[in-house]
Amino acid sequence: MAKLTVRDLEVSGKRVFMRVDYNVPMEEKDGRMVINDSTRIKETLPTLKFLTDQGARLILAAHLGRPDGKCEPSLSLRPVAEKLGELFGKSVKFVDECVGEKAEAAANGLKDGEILLLENVRFHAEEEENEAVFAAKLARLADLYVNDAFGAAHRAHASTCGVARIISAWGGRCAAGLLMERELKFLGDELDNPARPFAVILGGAKVSDKIKVIDRLLEKADVVLIGGAMAYTFKLAHGHKTGKSLVEPEHLQTALDAEVKAKARGVKFLLPSDNIIAELQDTGKLNKKGKPVWAPINPRVNTAADIPADCEGFDIGPATAATYALVLANSKTILWNGPMGMFEDPRFAEGTVAVAKAVAEATAQGAKSIIGGGDSVKAINKANLGNQVTFMSTGGGASLEFLEGTPLPGVTCLDEK
Ligand code: AMP
Repeated sequence: MAKLTVRDLEVSGKRVFMRVDYNVPMEEKDGRMVINDSTRIKETLPTLKFLTDQGARLILAAHLGRPDGKCEPSLSLRPVAEKLGELFGKSVKFVDECVGEKAEAAANGLKDGEILLLENVRFHAEEEENEAVFAAKLARLADLYVNDAFGAAHRAHASTCGVARIISAWGGRCAAGLLMERELKFLGDELDNPARPFAVILGGAKVSDKIKVIDRLLEKADVVLIGGAMAYTFKLAHGHKTGKSLVEPEHLQTALDAEVKAKARGVKFLLPSDNIIAELQDTGKLNKKGKPVWAPINPRVNTAADIPADCEGFDIGPATAATYALVLANSKTILWNGPMGMFEDPRFAEGTVAVAKAVAEATAQGAKSIIGGGDSVKAINKANLGNQVTFMSTGGGASLEFLEGTPLPGVTCLDEK
């Protein structure tokens, strides 16, 4: 059943508690905290406009960083209120508390269409503990609950779910914001009944991190394309040498089981046929843990099944990128989670960029492309292709858990339609 959204609410004159994801990157400049990237603030503007246009009195709650339950001035949300006012074109009130008399007075003093941002909810340890009295104090601020913070929806915290349960018990409705609605549509509904062929691209560091997603998507996909360091665990499981590549020897059976399941379900399961490898050179430096830092040198294509003992695999090779591009060109739905290689280093970004281009081209030909958050979103943006895919998730951990089929506390607490 679909979740209630802000489109279903009567909000005029009502106090609406809205959880947003304003965990923005900040740094100190000339004694002030400045926001480096306002993307997360901009992403909430459609929901804010939608609600304030209808006369809602909006009370926004968010966390910033990890203050561990203590008031930490450098993690105050005050600069975010200023930035939000600038971006929204209307002043936004700020209160330096999120519960208690001061916060209640500020919430109760709002007029229709006004916005108040509360101080960082993580200044209270009870937030992450989802403590009931604290959640009830948050609930006293509002009549209705909206969650637009998909990126925090995998956390069972007071502001992401405890407060919703209490508002609901007191007779108020709990709904998804427009951003949350889009996440649920693309990561949920669209993938439940995908247009076929449905291709899933999975990369990243570890098989163990992605195995639940692989397992679930094998029930839906027509083809799975594997890249990233996790491909080397498959290589090792097939009895090949992986040199110094990142592998999880304790997960060889996990990898083989995934292939057996794919075969049984008639899902094509493609592993890289070539890689970019490099030797490792001791830089003479030590990392924070006192371990020697090795730098990759002499990158080159390896077409052999084995990787030489002194080399590490860092990317998929050109033949693999070409094969994957061909598969994607024939797909009608594409889901991508995890880069094809260590794309942060330009020498090992080509495989990821080639796949990003193939996804963009397939999208231009009518395929739906869904980028499942985290590093794949970073990679698409790095390739300047962010506006050429159908949807990019704003969640990292939340997207992964949602794709695994794990219920997210911040979503389950919302009312059904
Ligand atoms: P994940 O968070 O599991 O999606 O993994 C993303 C990280 O895996 C990125 O920081 C990549 O640099 C890294 N990565 C992907 N492929 C490789 C590889 N072949 N060798 C080392 N690191 C890799």
